[in-house]
Amino acid sequence: MPDRDLLMIPGPIEFEPDVLRAMADKTASHVSPEFVEIFGRALDRMRQVWLAPDGQPFVVAGSGTLAMEMAAANLVQPGDRALVINTGYFSDRMAAILVRHGAVVTQVPAPIGTAPAPDEIAHALASDSYKVLVVTHVETSTGVRAPVEPLVRLARQHGALSIVDGVCSTAAEVFRQADWDADVFLTASQKAIGVPPGLALLVASPRAMETWRARRTPVASVYLDFAEWLPIMEAYMARKPAYFATPPVNLIYALDVSLGQILAEGMEARFARHARIGRAFRAAWQALDLSLVPLEESLAANTLSAIYYPSGADATLLAGIKQEGVIVAGGLHPEIRTRYFRVGHMGAITPNDVLATVGAVERALLGAGSSTPPGTALAAAQAVLSERE
Ligand code: PMP
Repeated sequence: MPDRDLLMIPGPIEFEPDVLRAMADKTASHVSPEFVEIFGRALDRMRQVWLAPDGQPFVVAGSGTLAMEMAAANLVQPGDRALVINTGYFSDRMAAILVRHGAVVTQVPAPIGTAPAPDEIAHALASDSYKVLVVTHVETSTGVRAPVEPLVRLARQHGALSIVDGVCSTAAEVFRQADWDADVFLTASQKAIGVPPGLALLVASPRAMETWRARRTPVASVYLDFAEWLPIMEAYMARKPAYFATPPVNLIYALDVSLGQILAEGMEARFARHARIGRAFRAAWQALDLSLVPLEESLAANTLSAIYYPSGADATLLAGIKQEGVIVAGGLHPEIRTRYFRVGHMGAITPNDVLATVGAVERALLGAGSSTPPGTALAAAQAVLSERE
């Protein structure tokens, strides 16, 4: 039997066939003219997807955590103060990375399912002098989307650089790096970028690059140092070969194909599609009387749903959903890990995937004793998916 299960976790996601085919292409020399053109074009396309025409893109073999560490390693010197907006598991990780690179970290925590209000952050920024403000755009452990635009603007007003973890948001949730004057927007390939795991991606503003150039201490990692990678990225963008460490050639083919598809859809259309799909899922969960981890609709991400199990249900529901042909993820936030599950909905996802997923969850719940009539959640999702502009 072919594997027809639908992978609906918050990364890795289902990938487009053309992207997967690029992974299987013959691997060229990383200094061949063909590869130079593809890598250069992928870097140009990143600027368009990030909405950062003057940003400096970096593509390095690694995962999202490496992109986080690359930002910290290059922009923070020992003793610098960092303000971390903490919305959960991945904000904890970023704080730990900053500490490891010598930053003095102050955290502004938020109760699970919420994000700190911009006023609270304004107050924190005014009470000390911070080199960087760090925010997780979509916290994958709670499904909370932070109000990132006012936060990065506040950082600017207070003379701090902003570093935004976009691993669960880039190319899906609205983010306008240049317009908002954000300094680093980082992600990984396996989520809304739509490429198998293995690429750390970030775009740095001209101001971030100046800050790095003004360092007095060396970056504490050779592999992460912009000094090694900047000449490489600049060379490929100028369509010239260069070498520091072997690039993951086939992943970069796939990146170029996927970014091309993203731009063919158009960023505004893509943001709107994710918003619609997010609303369709939330309508379905509400019809099933399920509670979400995000406490307010305005904080609910469009890229994933974090849903509390209904009373009497637990993680065995995930096996039931899998039986129905859809793979979803368990909880991640340590304080509520066993009480909720997560459904990813980003990237190449279609309305049909929404219905397949909602249908599978409905059937699994019926199998677990739910008395909600079959089709209730599907109807709610359909109503949103079939709205006219
Ligand atoms: N930040 C966020 C918001 C994430 O969702 C993830 C991965 N789920 C990471 C960072 C870390 O990325 P990776 O697993 O690719 O290292």
